[in-house]
Amino acid sequence: MEETQTILKRLRKAHQLSQEDLARRVGVTRRAVSRWETGESQPSTDSLRQLSKVLDVSVNTLLGSPRSLICQCCAMPMPDDALLSREPDGSINEDYCKWCYADGAFAYPSRDALLDYLLAHMPNPEGLPEDARRSQYDGWLRQLKHWQ
Ligand SMILES: [Zn+2]
Repeated sequence: MEETQTILKRLRKAHQLSQEDLARRVGVTRRAVSRWETGESQPSTDSLRQLSKVLDVSVNTLLGSPRSLICQCCAMPMPDDALLSREPDGSINEDYCKWCYADGAFAYPSRDALLDYLLAHMPNPEGLPEDARRSQYDGWLRQLKHWQ
């Protein structure tokens, strides 16, 4: 697993920012950025949120992807930041996929609407009857943040 210090340095250079530039955009001192990149200290939660905006990656990615992100609406795995939803201001929302949440609104008005969609589009290799599949999917969805 890549460490935060290496990831920060790589992304900062990819964005062609100096330590000074990044520090100004995140609202910290150049010395703080230097300490993050040498591993002497870790960015605070607030700094990670700012870094996520400036460098356009998720906080999870900045931390070396310790969590396997799952959409908290439809249960889809989201191994790539490109699948994550965004807030209207452009910042990344790590809880939902870009199909379930966009422009500040959710795509499915109810769990039943999502279940209808899943039943119509998910493969059913075992040929399970519809009511069995519906209750199986419903059991998964009920564990997700959006449906609690
Ligand atoms: Zn989703």
